[in-house]
Amino acid sequence: MGPRTTPATNPANSLSIDTNMKCSTEFWDPNGNIIILARGSVFCISEERLGQQSMLFSRLFMIPRWQDVADKLADRPVIHLPDSPCELHLLFRMVFDTSLSLMRHSGSSESSSSPKFSDIAAVVRLAAKYEMTTICNKALAKLTSFCSVTFLDWENLEDYVAQASFGFELRDAITLVSIARITGVSAMLPLAFYMCSQLGDEMTDGFVRDGHKEELSMDDRIMCVSGKELLAKASKVAHLRIFCGNDVKTGRLFSCCKQAHSEALRQTLSPFNAGAQDELTNALDPQLDRIKNLHDFCPTCYETIRERELEGRRKLWEELPSFFGLGQEDWPTDCRNL
Ligand SMILES: [Zn+2]
Repeated sequence: MGPRTTPATNPANSLSIDTNMKCSTEFWDPNGNIIILARGSVFCISEERLGQQSMLFSRLFMIPRWQDVADKLADRPVIHLPDSPCELHLLFRMVFDTSLSLMRHSGSSESSSSPKFSDIAAVVRLAAKYEMTTICNKALAKLTSFCSVTFLDWENLEDYVAQASFGFELRDAITLVSIARITGVSAMLPLAFYMCSQLGDEMTDGFVRDGHKEELSMDDRIMCVSGKELLAKASKVAHLRIFCGNDVKTGRLFSCCKQAHSEALRQTLSPFNAGAQDELTNALDPQLDRIKNLHDFCPTCYETIRERELEGRRKLWEELPSFFGLGQEDWPTDCRNL
């Protein structure tokens, strides 16, 4: 739903600020010449600045005498918006380039803490909706940077999420997919889908944030469920290769450590055999710490296992987009220094 001025067919109303309305203290410019009214919150801002930042509002303001058909409040034309007032505060901080942290909610006492993913996502969504290219790209850069890790820099999913430059929960990956769809930045999708595939029921059911349902589209849900299964199968194959106990060059079984190979293979495949595929869909994380008998291998076999484990994960990394039906473009697969 886009912005709405009062339709020309209806007479414009002269509104007054009543007790149900809440005037923004942060965005109430005495010299402002338009009113934004969103879910009972009132903003008084400059038409010129808003038009400079937003192609959509710029087109609106170019309509001759548009003010004449708009409702009036405090002697100014009103633009009704359907958006969350909190999210508009975040957007307007970027529109008006205020000194406050860009990504904090109005009135938050946590202005010095790192921004929340949901705040950045809200700015991207609103900026895309109102065609604010510069602002959208600025906020989006934070998310694309987060999604463009290389295999060499990847340690494990938990640490990666914890080290994000903004507060991020795994389920936020659902929103990441939606942002990638809105903005057309498909480079975010492989990692976003991978993270979604680690979720439980939320992957298919979504979740509610600030009264708004965050969920994958039906197509994306199918891609994610299907990708999760393919990833689990590929992960199983990778584990079989690690602990097969064969010399790759000769194809013969190693003469040493037969028992250790067999036991390691049993340990690593038991979650699959028990049907608990979720555990091993996290296939990009190091896998050797799952094996309890690594100390039973001789140094040569241990080194072989270590190399095969790394090679197996590198291959999964390179193939990640294909599991989710995506192309390889924009996916950082650089592993040359392995
Ligand atoms: Zn050995």
